[in-house]
Amino acid sequence: MTREDHLRALLDQEQQRVRARVTKLEAELGQLTHARRSESDDDEHDPEGVTLSSQWSMLAGLVSSAQEDARQAEEAMRRFNSGSYGLCAACTQPIPAGQLEARPFRERCVPCAS
Ligand SMILES: [Zn+2]
Repeated sequence: MTREDHLRALLDQEQQRVRARVTKLEAELGQLTHARRSESDDDEHDPEGVTLSSQWSMLAGLVSSAQEDARQAEEAMRRFNSGSYGLCAACTQPIPAGQLEARPFRERCVPCAS
């Protein structure tokens, strides 16, 4: 397996994982939204309603961060197909394989990202 094949496989795997996560979280959020709607409007005085609200905000946060990951995965794939994947977006040097394996979607090497 060449380095390219290896990275491609890694990216594919990550992308599938991230997409599955988005799908799952969106479904959970959908259910929770539904549960919230069927609650009474008297949210503030209903402890259950407050719990649902805070669960909902937490889940909504997870959904948007998963969506952001999915966006980065798309970007990484695009860079891969155009041949610029694995090069730092800031200093244009190749990103060490170990750093890519830890985070396949990274756009910058560790020194530039920090
Ligand atoms: Zn760099």
